[in-house]
Amino acid sequence: MNTLDRTTKDWQAADAAHFLHPFTDHQALSAKGSRIITRGEGVWLWDSEGQKIFDAMSGLWCVNVGYGRQELIDAATQQLQTLPFYNAFFQTATTPSIALAEKLAQLSPPQFQHVFFSGSGSEGNDTIVRLVRRYWDLQGHPGRHTIISRINAYHGSTMAGASLGGMVDMHAQGGLPIPGIVHIEQPYFAQHAQPGESHDEFGRRAASWLEYKILEVGPDKVAAFIGEPVQGAGGVIIPPDTYWPEIQRICDQYGILLVSDEVICGFGRTGHMFGCERFGVRPDLITFAKGVSSGYIPLGGVLVGDRVARVLIEQGGEFNHGYTYSGHPVACAVALANLGVIEREGLVQRVHDDTGPYLAQQFAALQGHPLVGEAETCGLMGAIRLVRRQATADAPAEPFASSLSVGMVCRGHCFNNGLIMRAVGDRMIIAPPLILTRELIDEMMARIRRCLELTWVDVQ
Ligand code: PLP
Repeated sequence: MNTLDRTTKDWQAADAAHFLHPFTDHQALSAKGSRIITRGEGVWLWDSEGQKIFDAMSGLWCVNVGYGRQELIDAATQQLQTLPFYNAFFQTATTPSIALAEKLAQLSPPQFQHVFFSGSGSEGNDTIVRLVRRYWDLQGHPGRHTIISRINAYHGSTMAGASLGGMVDMHAQGGLPIPGIVHIEQPYFAQHAQPGESHDEFGRRAASWLEYKILEVGPDKVAAFIGEPVQGAGGVIIPPDTYWPEIQRICDQYGILLVSDEVICGFGRTGHMFGCERFGVRPDLITFAKGVSSGYIPLGGVLVGDRVARVLIEQGGEFNHGYTYSGHPVACAVALANLGVIEREGLVQRVHDDTGPYLAQQFAALQGHPLVGEAETCGLMGAIRLVRRQATADAPAEPFASSLSVGMVCRGHCFNNGLIMRAVGDRMIIAPPLILTRELIDEMMARIRRCLELTWVDVQ
């Protein structure tokens, strides 16, 4: 059938018949039918029924420069015409991959002068596991292979990515985690703070769980600690400011490599080029993806700090690892154009100075809503925790019973009211494109408020 002749129902039938979606219950999908997204412009999407939708999730945390940017389209077209593919194996390279490596070295903290490219964030984190273990082997410590991560972290969906991640539902399928990966609790104040504990005190205590784990595993067995500066898929869990500096101190004390997974936080999301800069830490390795190309084309990788790069280059010989699409020339050309837009339009500075603080103000104003336990932001990412009853001087907020699936109720209202927000348990989260203006924030907040009202009515 000619694709132009198809109705939404035709597309949904073909979808249900043939397409296995990521992270999807297909019985539920078949019963309801997918929403088919057909077009995007700026922060807006349109579906096959013509509904206009405010995309407050930037696709999947990635469309930082918004949809429909001609510069990125031109870069892809030009590179496809010139050289659609060549690999980076066997002592070859392409000009876009070299130029992008050089650009990333310029944009990242000073200890990063080298880049290893992958096709995605998950592959980037597989590379992390290979790299840190290779580093310790070359240092003469082959027993130092254990990587510590956090419960409820998300580091991707490959065997290593899902193992590094701390999602229990993922571990339950496929015998994960793989050996040599262990987890500590996340720095989630609403879940783990003790009565009367301040955010700062909690941040230091949550970081101390890393030290306990190092001592339990044995300091001579621990290779690295990995964390997202702000846990994204876990529900936008923003750690207290005391957390990351203490994590840094502990890693330094035990000589452990510190890995910052910046797949979401990288390229301006927090109002800094990288999230580690927002929290004042100096990682040895950074995983990136998503925002590097604004999701226009798959690309990811690892920024390799001098400490690791020096050993790998000077002592390592051949590193037996790589992907066909490492340094794909079209992806790299698009990423260069994307980073050009971010720089030229001063998007990181804009989030830092203007839209980030403005969004924080608007979220703070939600605090009086009876459904809102906390509403927090970091740059242009934010979370609203939905609660049955707000905290009082004597008692913490009362959560909804999980059987009520309050987040899914709210997400349903967003879906029907032209707003994409994501629900993670009882947390409603956003990560809108960095091109947001104050006017667009007002528009988004009006939609968020309306969806909160509708949810409130439903749960009474
Ligand atoms: N790391 C983090 C922090 C992520 O949020 C994600 C994806 O959401 C990944 C890694 C995996 O990236 P990808 O889906 O590109 O494999």
